[in-house]
Amino acid sequence: MADQLEVLKRLQAIDGELFRLRRQQQEKPEELERAVAQVAAQEAQLKAAEARLKALQVAQKEKEVELATREANVKKLQGQLFQLKTNKEYTAMQREIDTLKADNSLLEEAILRAFDEIDQAVKERQQAQEWFANEQERLRAERARIERELAAIDGELAQLERSRQALLPEVAPSALATYERILDIREGLAMVPLVSESCGGCHRRLPPQVINQVYLKADLITCETCNRILYVDETHPAL
Ligand SMILES: [Zn+2]
Repeated sequence: MADQLEVLKRLQAIDGELFRLRRQQQEKPEELERAVAQVAAQEAQLKAAEARLKALQVAQKEKEVELATREANVKKLQGQLFQLKTNKEYTAMQREIDTLKADNSLLEEAILRAFDEIDQAVKERQQAQEWFANEQERLRAERARIERELAAIDGELAQLERSRQALLPEVAPSALATYERILDIREGLAMVPLVSESCGGCHRRLPPQVINQVYLKADLITCETCNRILYVDETHPAL
């Protein structure tokens, strides 16, 4: 059984890597999804900035049209001034014209203020465009990186699978069945060393007779708590 334990330890080294790489393989697309979500969020901000600018421009256009109409009205009244017969009528119309002109200058001021707001909105849209472009560039780079890493993982997995297949004939079928069952349940870690007088997997303290059996190497000895196969780590005997 001692040589079987050695083969199983080599198999565990390979399987540990296989589990680690397969987990990475599953996590990579999630990294990409996060980058995609950031681009979408930035695009939404850009759309909002564009909509705000558009609304300001439309409102500004409406104010300008209104001002032109009002100014035409003032001109029309000014033309009528000289057709009036009495001073009283003249004064009344002059007063009306003055009031309209005062309203118009308020509107002109509002138009000038709105130009500043539009300038600011243009700057904000430009900023949002830059951020969006940056996120898109980042996504492109992330996609390329992730594809590169996935290809590397595929290569490593294929190589590990070949090493695994080459090792399998050296393991007795019953030992392999036990090992693989634990490997599956314990997500890639079926073989653990003794650490002091405890299990290297779940860290539970082991009874002396279990430790003795592990040292004897006459059988596959498993931890009563986590079911992992126990072995003596000869490279770290002090542990
Ligand atoms: Zn254990």
